[in-house]
Amino acid sequence: MSNLDRQAGVSVCGGRGFVVAEPVRELLTPRRVQLGESTEVRRLLPNLGRRMVGAWAFVDHYGPDDIADEPGMQVPPHPHMGLQTVSWLHDGEVLHRDSLGSLQHIRPRELGLMTSGRAISHSEESPKPHARFLHGAQLWVALPDAHRHVEPHFQHHTDLPAVTAPGLTATVILGELDGAASPGTAYTPIVGADLALTAGAEARLPLDPDFEYAVLSMSGEAQVDGVPVVAGSMLYLGCGRTELPLRADSDAGLMLLGGEPFEEEIVMWWNFVGRSHEEIEQARSDWMTSARFGDVHGYDGGRLPAPQLPPVALKPRGRVR
Ligand code: MN
Repeated sequence: MSNLDRQAGVSVCGGRGFVVAEPVRELLTPRRVQLGESTEVRRLLPNLGRRMVGAWAFVDHYGPDDIADEPGMQVPPHPHMGLQTVSWLHDGEVLHRDSLGSLQHIRPRELGLMTSGRAISHSEESPKPHARFLHGAQLWVALPDAHRHVEPHFQHHTDLPAVTAPGLTATVILGELDGAASPGTAYTPIVGADLALTAGAEARLPLDPDFEYAVLSMSGEAQVDGVPVVAGSMLYLGCGRTELPLRADSDAGLMLLGGEPFEEEIVMWWNFVGRSHEEIEQARSDWMTSARFGDVHGYDGGRLPAPQLPPVALKPRGRVR
């Protein structure tokens, strides 16, 4: 998924200053963003006042959408730098193509993990024909300085480990949860897990007190630490927790996102994560005029042009609103 916002805002984030050291319950409401012609997403990160959760720097939730008579997702080739993208579906299917030559169908509860490293480009589309409903989340993980220039690579994992308790199946997407580790490559201490709860289930999830956490609700009615979290919203939980109480009032689908607070200050603009204005400006220029980000073959349509950079130079200066 791309940030297709034509008024792409700049997010200066990272650093310790904005991390909440103790447990909190901060409900984040989504911003609605139109992606192309037929897909509207709910953007949870970056959010007003909350830019990152661990290294998680971008969270879009979309659907469930009835796309029986629609093209569905159509995101033309676009570049990434300094991040990993995580594709996670509950319904439907996404066809991923990238400049490494990957061509991969991603289906519900399979991990599509693309590490951009220094440069990659990709497209994402609903295949033809496609299932009636499309429902999923698209997330970005910021890469730490030591690894942000790695060679780009794409991983697809269909057999992820799960932790179960009565009424709960927690599938580990990235990092580790309760001793179960995802095969996906992570570059910072992190966790991403899909939490499938059945109606009436009550569970306590073991957490790492050094991590900060948030829970995204994708479907159903559930309470997270006693707070009702409706589908399409996210509850920020802070740090300092050893467990998390969950309760499902109906069948519910949640995502747990967490990680060690991201120490480095980053500059995020459009589809790039960098450390300075100059670096972002160079990436934009390279996408528009050079072969740095490679070519995506087979997508029916042109590549996505970069929006204009804002007129004011970007300076990383800590987590700001
Ligand atoms: Mn993308």
